[in-house]
Amino acid sequence: VNALLDAAVDLAAREWSVLPLRPRGKAPLGALAPHGVDDATVDPAAVERWWRRAPTANVGLACAASGLVAVDVDPRHGGDDRLHELERALGPLPDTPRALTGGGGLHVLLAHPGGRVRGELAPGVELKAVGYVVAAPSVHPSGRRYEWDIAPDEAPIAPAPERWARAMAATDPRPATPADGAGEDDDPLLEIPPARYLERLAGVRVGRDGKARCPLHDDGTPSLHAYRDGRRGWYCYGCRRGGTIYTLAALLAGLRLPVRDAAFLTVQEELWREFYPEVFSA
Ligand SMILES: [Zn+2]
Repeated sequence: VNALLDAAVDLAAREWSVLPLRPRGKAPLGALAPHGVDDATVDPAAVERWWRRAPTANVGLACAASGLVAVDVDPRHGGDDRLHELERALGPLPDTPRALTGGGGLHVLLAHPGGRVRGELAPGVELKAVGYVVAAPSVHPSGRRYEWDIAPDEAPIAPAPERWARAMAATDPRPATPADGAGEDDDPLLEIPPARYLERLAGVRVGRDGKARCPLHDDGTPSLHAYRDGRRGWYCYGCRRGGTIYTLAALLAGLRLPVRDAAFLTVQEELWREFYPEVFSA
């Protein structure tokens, strides 16, 4: 019995498009779904084939292809308080499938209200309308499983109530959040001090003054500054580039910025493997 295969088959039988994700990860399993969310399908034969080849693949649920939008609540950014405020202002969310994420968050699935949907309703309350979300019983990088709080068997997918639909409509040009992964959970990668990740990823020694030679354009001078405050960032005054651990990893890999969607998730997973290999021991 493979709970991940069963879940993927069950979702596909509901005409919800699924795709295989990396085991304990959020990035598409590139070997089976090289085009990421575009490879999502409701075809049960394809789904069985995928999970027979990769039995521990996590299950991605493609939002647009499934006609869904996921309200993605991240309590670590105050999302649960904001959700309560939204429910007081807009009325309660209906009974509809909802899942507890392995990272402590909540996904509430609603029928897509049509039109363009904004990326965020409030801090910590994002809307995922394109891309995909990780579905239960996938395993979060932390090792915890995603679990249905209200399973699709217990409640059909509900339309967004009218006031919610109005609040969800895009009023600015910011696109919807492209994919699950970024910013969904408290991100331990962003807690790693720059001196540590600069040395580990680029072999750069950071001096006591926080300065280092830049691995991206080295001209022999200590032009790179590692911030020692809560920003956990770096900046090079020589090549005028800087950012987070993600920016550094992407630039070292020769990727163009900004790194989005599948490329971002790939960078993220590689960083997880580098800094938290124990998560991937299974
Ligand atoms: Zn530089």
